[in-house]
Parts: sequence; C-alpha cells; structure tokens
Amino acid sequence: MQLSITGYSTALFSTWYFVEEFGLLFDAGDGLMASLMQKSRKVSHAFISHADRDHLTGLLQFNQLNARPGLPLIYYPANCGSFPALEDFSNRFDPHVAGTKWLPLVPGEEVWLRNDILVKAIKNGHVPSAEGIFKSCGYKLVQVRKKLKPEFIGLSGTELRQLTEQHGQDFINTEIRTTLLGYSGDTPV
Ligand SMILES: [Zn+2]
Repeated sequence: MQLSITGYSTALFSTWYFVEEFGLLFDAGDGLMASLMQKSRKVSHAFISHADRDHLTGLLQFNQLNARPGLPLIYYPANCGSFPALEDFSNRFDPHVAGTKWLPLVPGEEVWLRNDILVKAIKNGHVPSAEGIFKSCGYKLVQVRKKLKPEFIGLSGTELRQLTEQHGQDFINTEIRTTLLGYSGDTPV
C-alpha cells in the first residue's frame, strides 16, 4: 500500500506528520497549518504522542480552523494533564470549536478509522511516569484483513454461508494484521 505522507520534524522545534489516505495526523507541531493549509481539512483523526511543546503548538490553530460537529477527533495519552487543560483553553478562546472530541487513550487501545484500518497506541517511556500512568505513547497504523482458514478452502459459497450462519464469521476466518506505519514519538520504541 502506498501512503502519501507530508511532515516535518526537527527536535526541539516541531514535529508533525499527515497521512493523506486516512485523514490521519501524528502530532501537531508548529508550522503544521502554514504547510497543510486547506489540506488540513482532510484530517479527521489526530493522534498526539506527548505534550512536549514541539509536538502540539500547531494544535490550537488546527482545531479552530477545522472544528465542526463531531470532528476532529483528538487522541492523547490518558494521564497527560496538558490535554484537558488545552481543551478547556481552546473551548474558551474559540467557542466555535465545541464539536471537537478530545479522547484519552491507554496503550494497547485501538481506534478504527474504517472497517479494515486501525491505529493502536503503543506504550513508550519518553515521559517518565509511574507504573500504570501513561503520559506518552507511540502509534501503529495497522491493516486488518480476514482470510479463510485453510481447513475451509475448497468449500462452496453455500457451505461457507451455512457455517457462518451457524458459528459466526470468526469460525471460518482468521485475522491477518499488517503494520503499515509506526510512529514512535521521540523514542526508539
Ligand atoms: Zn518529546
């Protein structure tokens, strides 16, 4: 699968990556909006890895220009207090952004972008925190496909339909997961 990725990253100054095919943004550093301009409208899901300022100073402008009912969806490490503070500030400073959803994630959690593509949060140690507290994470973009189990290859459509009706889809199919992209968020994880 070919992905169209626009991005920028220089440590301390700014990091952001836009994956056009899935309307996906990883981090939102400075210069994001000046670079993407109208294309930023295509971002439906923004995943922020941590609250270091070089990863989120473009977020307010991204949000205030693109907020509409139910969008964008902004995901962040669940125990990072900077994001609820930013949400509160954003809502007061730009009252028209009320449609934005701010959503905490814990490592291992999966967000489906469509029925065969998901983003999974991966624990990393970039922001030191106690066991069970999550202040930074990376993300994996994963393609999920269903493949017929080998023991059912050769059965007719009718036979397969009967088996599915009796036992469900998972009885005849096995799930194949392919990582399309990993975003490690300032770590080698
Ligand atoms: Zn950092």
